[in-house]
Amino acid sequence: MSARAYLDHNATSPLRPAALDAMVDALRAGGNPSSIHGVGRKARAIVDKARREVAAVVGALPAETIFTSGGTEANNLALSGAGRRRVLVSAIEHDSVRRAGPQAEILPVDGDGVLDLAALERALAASAEPALVSVMLANNETGVLQPIAEVVRLAQAAGALVHCDAVQGVGRVPVDLHGLGVDYLSLSAHKLGGPTGVGALVLRSGAPLQPDRRGGGQESNRRAGTENVAGIAGFGAAAAQAACGLDVTALRDQLEVALVQIAPGAKVFGVKTPRIGNTTCISMPGVPAETQVMAFDLVGVCISAGAACSSGKVQRSPVLEAMGVPAAEAGCATRISLGWNSEAADIERLIAAWQNLYIRVRQSDISHTDSRARAA
Ligand code: PLP
Repeated sequence: MSARAYLDHNATSPLRPAALDAMVDALRAGGNPSSIHGVGRKARAIVDKARREVAAVVGALPAETIFTSGGTEANNLALSGAGRRRVLVSAIEHDSVRRAGPQAEILPVDGDGVLDLAALERALAASAEPALVSVMLANNETGVLQPIAEVVRLAQAAGALVHCDAVQGVGRVPVDLHGLGVDYLSLSAHKLGGPTGVGALVLRSGAPLQPDRRGGGQESNRRAGTENVAGIAGFGAAAAQAACGLDVTALRDQLEVALVQIAPGAKVFGVKTPRIGNTTCISMPGVPAETQVMAFDLVGVCISAGAACSSGKVQRSPVLEAMGVPAAEAGCATRISLGWNSEAADIERLIAAWQNLYIRVRQSDISHTDSRARAA
């Protein structure tokens, strides 16, 4: 059994060995892809190969794929680069979408965390100004899949462009740029077993894009700056493996059944609607999420309290808030996310940790109640 049960793949998935090998090779090779000598041409070949691999995982052409510094930059670039002043975003988008369009109109979701399509239709009809609609493929906290085909249908009928943050979807469900019909798709390497600090904006040929950086002509004049060759190589290798899909749904379902059996008041958020198969957002009633995360960490189990947050502090989840989950319940919700190296032993370790914590909390509740009764 490994030293830890790492069940936080939606924060960052561990680096796949093939990605590490590709990165080491690229670092050893060195060079600048824009140099025309042999070393430069080798670096260019590494980037080109990775571009084919990343494009293939979402059914796009290499020329439709722009490497970025991650999902955040891809989201920022799409929102600013599409050139639409009117922007509509769902209430459960990642901060890198919500904060990229501070003037954006927010579209509500229902109690299962699914976009309210009627609200989108009304918003699109409310103005003749052509819009950009940004809706994610799968939510990072709950794993709930969004009705992208319907979003595209409504948006196209209204002359709007569509951006889809597919950071949590790629490698977990089949994704096809052209099949989905979106104009822009954001990807991030570290969610699928590649390195942190690299991602891509994939855009349909012909979709407008105003670059947001000034500098050289890299990425066909769409994203200035010398490419992160090693990171891109790792991204390509991880994408090629992620293209085979992820088969952890049975483990995840088994886990949910076990956790709810132990703590009958536990609630799985979004359980009634299609979700990616690796994610569980679940509350242990009465036990703050931070307490759970720390207690599990002490026994070598890594999970998250809602969204992993850059400041390292746990904040109230805007996703659960948008779903109408009461604050007290949302404060007890954690996110468990499986990935390419998850195995049954990880799940068993989490179940044992959950049971121990739940029993301890119950016992202390009971002894508090007893001592209050004695004091009365
Ligand atoms: N979009 C979603 C849905 C995410 O979950 C994340 C990361 O957590 C991002 C975007 C940002 O990606 P990156 O960490 O590569 O900037």
